[in-house]
Amino acid sequence: MTSENPQAADLDPRLAAIRNFEGKYPRQLWGLFLSEMWERFCFYGMRGALTVFMISQLGMLEKEANLRYGAIQAFVYTMTFVGGFFADQILGFRRSIAWGGLLMAAGSFTIAASPQDYFWIGTSISIIGTGFFKPNISGIVGHLYHDGDTRRDAGFSLFYSGINIGAFLGGLICVGLGKNYGWHWTFVSTGVVMLFGLFVFGLTARGLEPLGHSPLIQEGQRPSTATRIKLISVYVGSLAMIPLIRLLVEKSEYTDPFMWTVGPLVLVYFIITMLRCPREELRKLVAALVLILFSIAFWGIYEQSGGSLAIVAENHLPPADLIVAEVDALGINNSSNALFVIVFSPLVGLIWLFMGKRQPSDTSKFAIGFFFLAAAYYLFQGLGGAADANGMSSIALFTFAYFVVTIGEICLSPIGLSAMTKLAPRRMYGIIMGMWFLASAYGQYVAGLLGASMATEKAEATPYEKLMGYADGYGQLAFYSLICGVALLLLAPVLNRLAHGKI
Ligand code: GLN
Repeated sequence: MTSENPQAADLDPRLAAIRNFEGKYPRQLWGLFLSEMWERFCFYGMRGALTVFMISQLGMLEKEANLRYGAIQAFVYTMTFVGGFFADQILGFRRSIAWGGLLMAAGSFTIAASPQDYFWIGTSISIIGTGFFKPNISGIVGHLYHDGDTRRDAGFSLFYSGINIGAFLGGLICVGLGKNYGWHWTFVSTGVVMLFGLFVFGLTARGLEPLGHSPLIQEGQRPSTATRIKLISVYVGSLAMIPLIRLLVEKSEYTDPFMWTVGPLVLVYFIITMLRCPREELRKLVAALVLILFSIAFWGIYEQSGGSLAIVAENHLPPADLIVAEVDALGINNSSNALFVIVFSPLVGLIWLFMGKRQPSDTSKFAIGFFFLAAAYYLFQGLGGAADANGMSSIALFTFAYFVVTIGEICLSPIGLSAMTKLAPRRMYGIIMGMWFLASAYGQYVAGLLGASMATEKAEATPYEKLMGYADGYGQLAFYSLICGVALLLLAPVLNRLAHGKI
């Protein structure tokens, strides 16, 4: 398979050579896959430890720890907008990724030095670092493809599998180290692994040739003094934000006002930026925005995994007997999704490759994602029907529902990344990826609100009544997913027209 493309004619020949790759995947994808895999190891290693650490080491009550965890998640994904913005305007992808990775490692080592004393400052540094790393590594993947190359979705699906290998191993190893050998080992390991990820990225960067440099610096030229000042200002500015982020994550009462002001402001900024673009670009960006808004609904429902589904697993499900070992239900809740993604995301990607031009449009893939999400939540609702009088239900049903959720995720999440790079002009890849992940921040936020609204208020409720409260809620979420799926199918022709092609 090869993609000789007419666009190659006016391209830098090195870039044309990258995009004219033969076979299924561009060679550079593997390096990016590995760099992102180690970054996610660090991210999910830290994330997995957060709540347990706050409760057992900082003496926090469960409710408070959950609120702070939600705030940290929200701020991480909000910072991706900032990281994407500065990559497009000043740093370029390479410098942004290197800077983000260094900050993430620094955040980990800061906590490792004295976990109880430096937890908040280290977490704040890591939040900013993730903002610079995460959107921009995904943006670079988009640059490996010509416009219209039908292999792009499959590339992102493979990349997504790498994300989940890192997530799975990080969550397992780093939390295990912390619980068994002392928490500083969690943060030493995430820091070391992040440095290794950066090393891999350094090796990969050579093969990226003209890609990812600062838009302000001509290749092979030294930056002008004005550019140097801009670069340094971004580095210093991001360091100066540490105390602010620290204040925001330490006080969970700031989360609501923050979310209610930042989202609308960013949206207004993005719309103004869109309106300044030529008409053709504007139409595609409107299509991107529609997909981004739907993704908030998807993550809001999907992210019950970190909240209410974890509670259901902990309180209402027996361990799973996997012949070789018994795995507790919380373990299934925390790790089955990543395992399913690792195996099935490349497989689904191969289906897209095999279908070539006949594959469904991205909007239809989003709709399919919502239909799987709906099916999964109807299955989660079924946990109510399958429960005994003590409110204990079926772990097999729960695990199968996770499988179904994951297929939905695979149809939406990597495809969303891919679609962003089809719909935005290349000079805006950073900001559009930032917007895509910002939607996740809001998804997390919505997920927390939905989860809280499902929890039974009555203190004297029996376990059975509590489970029923969640089961009813899951039925409603399934219905909302169904509506979103149908709405997307109806919107598909409109979006195709906006994007002047199948999207
Ligand atoms: N699990 C994926 C990742 O870590 C998706 C995250 C998201 O978009 N919310 O990249």
